[in-house]
Amino acid sequence: MDPGPAGPSGPFPTPEAVLAADRRHVWHPYAPMPATVDPYLVTSAAGVRLRLADGRELVDAMSSWWAAIHGYRHPVLDAALAEQAGRMSHVMFGGLTHEPAVRLAGTLVELAPPGLEHVFLCDSGSVGVEVAVKMALQYQRGRGRPQRHRLATWRGGYHGDTFHPMSVCDPDGGMHRLWTGVLPRQIFTDPPPNGFDSVVDEGYATTLAETVSRHADTVAAVIVEPVVQGAGGMRFHHPHYLRVLREVTREHDIALIFDEIATGFGRTGTFFAAEHADVAPDVLCVGKALTGGYLSLAATLCTPQIAAGISRTGVLAHGPTFMGNPLACAVANASIGLLRAGNWPAEVARVAAGLSAGLAPLRGATGVIDVRVLGAIGVVQLDRPVDVAAATAAAVAHGVWLRPFRDLIYAMPPYLTDDADLARIAAAMGAAAAAA
Ligand SMILES: *Cc1c(COP(=O)(O)O)cnc(C)c1O
Repeated sequence: MDPGPAGPSGPFPTPEAVLAADRRHVWHPYAPMPATVDPYLVTSAAGVRLRLADGRELVDAMSSWWAAIHGYRHPVLDAALAEQAGRMSHVMFGGLTHEPAVRLAGTLVELAPPGLEHVFLCDSGSVGVEVAVKMALQYQRGRGRPQRHRLATWRGGYHGDTFHPMSVCDPDGGMHRLWTGVLPRQIFTDPPPNGFDSVVDEGYATTLAETVSRHADTVAAVIVEPVVQGAGGMRFHHPHYLRVLREVTREHDIALIFDEIATGFGRTGTFFAAEHADVAPDVLCVGKALTGGYLSLAATLCTPQIAAGISRTGVLAHGPTFMGNPLACAVANASIGLLRAGNWPAEVARVAAGLSAGLAPLRGATGVIDVRVLGAIGVVQLDRPVDVAAATAAAVAHGVWLRPFRDLIYAMPPYLTDDADLARIAAAMGAAAAAA
């Protein structure tokens, strides 16, 4: 095998050599092989800035996909990781346990909506959603209702890239067409009406409840992203519809799953988005910002009632190799510790104000059909698909890292992004919109 311009053990001689090897061997998310666009080469990151191989620095307006809420190389998180690495980086979770995982589980239970008392730690968001679905299906089996194995959701969602999560992603924007005949067929309602502050559409609420009721005999769970639908279209909805779902699922003993993998840990202005509706689901998925963006970790929480149903069928048959990884748990504990010790509601409100002010001039601009901000999330929606390479290049020229998709240019910066950098992000979003 030709190891390429650099030997497998030696450093690459130049950044170009790294990119050449990247092109030859490495898949990137949602990318063809061979790739058609070169990625930007990052050599380090600190605070809210990514440093590129050519020396340029970019403000990371994406928090590395919702995760790096405290920015990069945070001294407290770095120290937690080093300290845990000095004890043990990993041990299997079957038959063994350790303090970082036990502490994290207790903290999540304390912070989650009431009633969620049991915690399954796993390695990524998609797996966390798989576990949630397995819990719901197994619960229904435990209740003697194996025919209840379908899922219901509203359109416009995103729940991950493995097969069951894909089956509840938006059927138009997601990958359903490619996988017709393979994906389980789930029950979809219309997407929730747009707007966190919009007037409640009682007609929609009634139809939503009726659709779930009508399928109650075959539905194990309703799964939704509360308040913010992220990668399915960056849409915000009124919390009232979550209360409607809570009522109808309770009435029919259908599990209600909230996927807070994107919205958890303060991003929407409350610690969990469920708090906007004052609703507690039966199952809760968290991930992304759980470790402050340091390591891949997710958790699925459930109520004692769900656990009791599952135990009537035996065990919850799931157990990833890296379940409860101590490094990931230790850095998650430190990240949540930072949130609790700091004043994240004020920080998130400040980010919201900065994005709102900076993006206001884009309202009504040519080609812009909507500008919306909720918590530390800012979205500019265009009247056409974004030319991602052109939009990204325009943002990079403004010193900002953005990763638009479909017709959306959006930002969810680290909470500590200062006002000058927020203004820079908004200006870069404007430039990206003009270039797209
Ligand atoms: C990102 C995301 C997932 C999938 O998480 P991965 O860690 O990428 O597998 C699931 N649900 C939501 C809402 C997400 O934003």
